[in-house]
Amino acid sequence: MSTQSSHDVHVLPSEALSLEQLEAACRETAVFAWSQGSELCPEPPQVIYLCPTNVCNHRCCTCGYGAMRRGRKADGSPQRGYMDMDLFRKIVSELPRGFRRAYLQKTGESLLHPQIVEMMRHLKEMRPEYDRAMHTNASVLTPELARAMLENLTFVSLSIFAFDREAYRRAHGADHFERVMANIAMFHDAWDRMESPPKVYFDVVRNVHNAQLRDEEIFGVLQERFPRFNVGIHFPFNFQGIVEEYDNRIFSAIDPARMPTCIHPWDMMAILWDGVVGYCVGDPLEKAALGDLRRQTVMEAWNGPGYREFRRLAAAKDFAALRKRHIHCGSCNWNFALKSQVLTTLCMHARHAISDPSGQAGQPLFTGRDMLRAGLLNYARGDMAEALKNTAFAEIVSRDEGLRSRAGWWKQRVLDVLLMRKDLEYWEELLRKEGLSLESVHVSKYSLAQEQAALTADTHCRTASGATVKKDAF
Ligand code: SF4
Repeated sequence: MSTQSSHDVHVLPSEALSLEQLEAACRETAVFAWSQGSELCPEPPQVIYLCPTNVCNHRCCTCGYGAMRRGRKADGSPQRGYMDMDLFRKIVSELPRGFRRAYLQKTGESLLHPQIVEMMRHLKEMRPEYDRAMHTNASVLTPELARAMLENLTFVSLSIFAFDREAYRRAHGADHFERVMANIAMFHDAWDRMESPPKVYFDVVRNVHNAQLRDEEIFGVLQERFPRFNVGIHFPFNFQGIVEEYDNRIFSAIDPARMPTCIHPWDMMAILWDGVVGYCVGDPLEKAALGDLRRQTVMEAWNGPGYREFRRLAAAKDFAALRKRHIHCGSCNWNFALKSQVLTTLCMHARHAISDPSGQAGQPLFTGRDMLRAGLLNYARGDMAEALKNTAFAEIVSRDEGLRSRAGWWKQRVLDVLLMRKDLEYWEELLRKEGLSLESVHVSKYSLAQEQAALTADTHCRTASGATVKKDAF
């Protein structure tokens, strides 16, 4: 299957896109396919997780790693491995062109792959336009790996879930706190010497081992020690029920018909270390296989039978059928963080790529045709509020009946997108019964622990292990 599509009309230089070209571009967006429940998605995946290895040297309490199993070895242990370099090159050569984000990772510590430096360089060489990203626990970070990351990646995330040695040992299942702090200090210094270094941020997942620290305290201790890096604190992902601590009763109470329809079947591809296509970056079991890149190309798999069935069942909210296929979206708490509903992710490519060479964007609009044109540009960019205004205006002001009905048709498609979130109040009500809100659903244990925790004086933080540390102790 070709990776070229009429979505690529945006690359036509310096001439105005016709209304027909814009309509075709909008029809081929992932957001169109998602909101229409289409099995096929003409637009290639926006975000690609390419897994060098599913081996990890940590056992984090926030991760479904322990449950991961795709087949069993003779001794009963889960099957794990490292991606073959030839397979990696084949997959990279098939990745769609244009602005995308590729993570060199899925569930595992990518820096353990013996050829990870070569992989980073190759990805940059072959897809320089990509956002090239990696999460790491930084426990095996060396100056050589740091240099390769700084030179070849555009985005690095450092996983750290606790802030003293004992709490870290419990949270990460590894006694690596001092080593990790030293490695990050080395990375921070190297970052500082770079002319255009990647974005780096700390990925702090809430858990019982950091529950006693307020957000501001975590920001404080990390930014004081590593001022160049950002800090992100977020809810724990329940790995679809595997990490039980973060399960919510909402999954047994919610009417499946009113579960949100996750965007990711239309915008994300997760490629396992052996080339099998999984269904989500958050799939801990790795038992579902939507395709096999040892035998298919990326785009053949993206619209192949496995993905088409996945999208059909996801759009129908048939979670029981999905479960039978080892797909556990029906108990995924990502749905309620609305992370899986974020249009900006889905429209990432369009926002970066679709421009208006006519230069009309932002200019006064006078005709119904101009209005519809602006509406289509905003649809493709993912700005549905503006698209709704524009298409509604076009429908009202157009004298041409054909144009009016075209504008009305697109206005309805914009409404389809907005209606994907119509059950927000229903979910909010269910969560309220658990004493939660859409904002807090993923931090229930954290919230409870935080309520009970007695924080010490402003200059000190108490950790989950009971130790009291000075904020500047790092
Ligand atoms: S519902 Fe959850 S598991 Fe399913 S595709 Fe979305 S994020 Fe992944």
